[in-house]
Amino acid sequence: GRGMVVVHETVASRVLLGAGARHLVPEEVERLGATRVLLVATGSARAARDELEAALGERAVACFDGAVVHTPVAVTGQAMAVVEEAAADAVVTIGGGSAIGLGKAIVARAGIPHLALPTTYAGSEVTPVLGETTDGVKQTRRDPALLPGTVVYDVELTLRMPVGLTLTSAVNALAHAVEALWAPDATPVSGALATEASRLLLGALPEVLDDPSGLPARTALQEGAWLAGTCLATARMGLHHQLAHALGGTFDLPHAELHTMLLAHVLRHNLPHAPTAAHRLRAITGDDPVAAVAALAAAYDGPRRLRDLGVPADGLAAVAERVAAAPYPNPGPTDAASVEAVLRAAW
Ligand code: NAD
Repeated sequence: GRGMVVVHETVASRVLLGAGARHLVPEEVERLGATRVLLVATGSARAARDELEAALGERAVACFDGAVVHTPVAVTGQAMAVVEEAAADAVVTIGGGSAIGLGKAIVARAGIPHLALPTTYAGSEVTPVLGETTDGVKQTRRDPALLPGTVVYDVELTLRMPVGLTLTSAVNALAHAVEALWAPDATPVSGALATEASRLLLGALPEVLDDPSGLPARTALQEGAWLAGTCLATARMGLHHQLAHALGGTFDLPHAELHTMLLAHVLRHNLPHAPTAAHRLRAITGDDPVAAVAALAAAYDGPRRLRDLGVPADGLAAVAERVAAAPYPNPGPTDAASVEAVLRAAW
């Protein structure tokens, strides 16, 4: 019947991948015909930004270093003043989802090309999605024009990522892949990407935690994050992302840490109802994917339970009620009692 039809759409983008790929940015800028580049970078990417600014010479006309998490429109307003003042005709972002989100917000307003150099595993660089906050309220939009036209994956930009951020950011990426495995709109393409992303991330993460600057394992993590981000762009996310959004919004919590403390619990809840995902994950982790993910999460040297983030036990029922009232598509049950049980386990 027609209910079984899925749609797979791909938006064009150009991706460069390889150690040292950042040195090709001036050529990519030239390719776009841009001559007035705005550089957006967070503090962690200062050295890479300075290097790129020097390489671009007089084509680097301005820098903005005020990007913060959740893309507040007030910050975007400050950045737009710089875009206009400098008459920028391209934006280059270097950083995690916060810098890339600001790049997308600039593109939404100025319509200039965007080259993104990701330094985390969040995956925003390959999605046509932008979440912006006004007075603390986040609104998300999806538009093919928001997908950065050029992405440069240079593993060297990730070698000094702290171990804690590495772990939470990679588990955030893993969550995109896992939810794509059980998504109702999964296609053979998204399923293949999600499976390979899970294999790369689960395989490389323990190695990177042992040796954070090891090039082959860091490369595998970045490749896994690319594939996982592509899953986020194409498949609908389920209970795991809904819980992360609901908790993050209600209690103002760090996104990647939330993912890390929730994923094993959502896997335990969903896998009995998601045979394809269970089968594929078992082929990667052996018998017990829940235990494998729980072991990774347990290696985190920061808050590991919802209670450690200050979430009150008596606040969980209300979150569960809200999730159950309008659930994202999910293989396991999403009634309030089931959702509350997942939350309580993560608490
Ligand atoms: P982030 O960009 O906020 O970075 C977290 C912190 O780590 C920052 O202080 C940053 O400066 C630092 N950092 C980044 N890379 C580093 C590195 N290599 N070494 C050392 N420090 C580094 O975190 P994020 O998780 O990448 O992004 C989160 C934001 O992105 C959120 O606003 C989220 O909503 C958004 N996001 C959007 C999408 C999308 O598709 N639209 C996807 C994923 C995330």
